[in-house]
Amino acid sequence: MTERREWMPRAEWDALVRGEGCPLCVEVAALESVNTYGHTIADLRLSRLRLASNQSVRGYCVLICSKHVREPYELSGKDRRAFFEEMMQAGQALESVFQSIKMNFEILGNAVPHLHCHIIPRYYGDRAPGLPIHPDEEVVHLTVEEYEQQVASIRSTL
Ligand SMILES: [Zn+2]
Repeated sequence: MTERREWMPRAEWDALVRGEGCPLCVEVAALESVNTYGHTIADLRLSRLRLASNQSVRGYCVLICSKHVREPYELSGKDRRAFFEEMMQAGQALESVFQSIKMNFEILGNAVPHLHCHIIPRYYGDRAPGLPIHPDEEVVHLTVEEYEQQVASIRSTL
């Protein structure tokens, strides 16, 4: 699937970088644990771990930094190490729960420049051998019970 995208107006991008109207600042501060994009699994010291609503790749999660920075190197050394540790903690928990064969950690932020990491378990025989996989190429939703069960499993393994 090739979806043609265009850059947002430059002023809008610069505002987002400053944190103005940043959807991930809203997400990381939200009190409700479920929204369109996902289910909150846990709040770690410097990040919030969320199970993505789209489970076209089983276990696909997003780890959102609780501080608005564009790049990891804008964090203090202490926070940088904490964020990395939390990525590893989440990745190991996902491997343990989903028995994946590889873990992909994608820090991109090209659409929303607020530090976050897509954590994507990979499975033998999945649809993108040798390449990154794009969860949004397919959409799979679970039942409410299935989401709750997965959130509970990951949370208890963290
Ligand atoms: Zn933000």
